[in-house]
Amino acid sequence: MPIRFYNTLTRREEEFVPLEPGKVAMYTCGPTVYAPPHIGNMRTFFFADLLRRYLGFRGFQVKFVMNLTDVDDKTIRGALREGVSLNEYTQPFIDDLFHNFDQLGIRQADVHPRATHYVPQMVDIIRRLQERGMAYEAEGSVYFDISEFPGYGQLSKVDVSAGRRGERVAADEYDKDDVRDFVLWKAAKPEDATVGAVWDTQWGPGRPGWHIECSAMSMQELGETFDIHLGGVDLIFPHHEDEIAQSEGATGKPFVRYWLHGEFLLLEGGKMAKSTGNIFNVRDLVERGVKPSSVRYLYLTAHYRSKLNFTFEGLASAGEAVRRVRGTRDRLRDHPAARDPDPADTPSLHAAADEVLAAFAAAMDEDLNTSVGLATLHRLAGAINTRLEELGTRPISHAEQAAALAALERIDSVFGFVSLADRESQVDEGLAAWVEERIAAREAARKARDFASADAIRDEIAARGVVVEDTAQGPRWSLGS
Ligand SMILES: [Zn+2]
Repeated sequence: MPIRFYNTLTRREEEFVPLEPGKVAMYTCGPTVYAPPHIGNMRTFFFADLLRRYLGFRGFQVKFVMNLTDVDDKTIRGALREGVSLNEYTQPFIDDLFHNFDQLGIRQADVHPRATHYVPQMVDIIRRLQERGMAYEAEGSVYFDISEFPGYGQLSKVDVSAGRRGERVAADEYDKDDVRDFVLWKAAKPEDATVGAVWDTQWGPGRPGWHIECSAMSMQELGETFDIHLGGVDLIFPHHEDEIAQSEGATGKPFVRYWLHGEFLLLEGGKMAKSTGNIFNVRDLVERGVKPSSVRYLYLTAHYRSKLNFTFEGLASAGEAVRRVRGTRDRLRDHPAARDPDPADTPSLHAAADEVLAAFAAAMDEDLNTSVGLATLHRLAGAINTRLEELGTRPISHAEQAAALAALERIDSVFGFVSLADRESQVDEGLAAWVEERIAAREAARKARDFASADAIRDEIAARGVVVEDTAQGPRWSLGS
């Protein structure tokens, strides 16, 4: 069975055939590193990681590239506000991004190119565009002439006839009413130099526009034509439309074969927006006692092309589902196994495991239908529970146990919430051991009337989000909310 994806470029589901058999080159627009990513941003990165994991599950060798936008209007504004260099400003956000990935079990890409490291490649594309008559200079900046590129509008279906000939837009972000020539290279403003965001070129000092960054990084890492480009739906226009124009304009070759776009996440029914404060990031959730494995599960409940309504109620049932699947896995793993099972016994889990793996792949092949994929996983868990009940105290055959455990593990190599929950419980146990040890040390300090040390230990414990209460029965601790 072939994999099928909904291709935004053609507005239909298509069979996926990579350029090179057995290999997939994929790129996703990473974050602009000027703020902590919220759970809506994380949904897009989760989707990219899910696709990459599934292609791996299907035996493809994947090269996955996710850029980091570390120079644009927003990062420069942030660096100016903080009075630091662009690098000093963006690095903590990059570190924080990877920490967020780790917490949610999102694997890092094979390459995370930073825009500031690819400026020569950007300059080269712009130079080629100018040579082919598709770009022009104006007041030290360089613009893409959309009237010279007949394919403009192919992805977003914007009305190019509404484009105002010779009019230009210099902002990195603009909307559909603003179909105009867009900026490739921006002439330096005096403040750009103070944050180290200026490069010398044939057009004079300046810095790249946002769109050219992705064209340069993706083609440098994956070639001039590659298989899959992903991103959030909000990037279709202008960002991805402009990426196509610049790349194809410069190379004369098709840029990307399959365009996949992930939908928004709604928070309790409303759009998340920084402006209204209606926003959550992973840290906020963890502080409320939410396990990231529940967030992972919740992401899987909606198809990537559907809006996902994020609610705390939904999160609680997601957590319950994670516990159920993991509990089943644990019971099966801990059930006594025998090399020579009872000859009267008929093992049934081999067949269930094979059937479920096939159904899982069929669901995921169909444009990553994760909710059906989840249903197949629960079906396997159900079959395991039934089987264990039927066995009672009798041992299970080694081979049967191994087959069912392998199927669970194989599905989790794509979904990843069981292994993430395993890791979370190890962290919990590690934290518990540490807190117990520190409380004992604090008690010892108090007995020795060393109150300064006792207070210092108390602060140390509090810094890890743990609340200690002194009761008549001695100190009790809990994770603060
Ligand atoms: Zn991009």
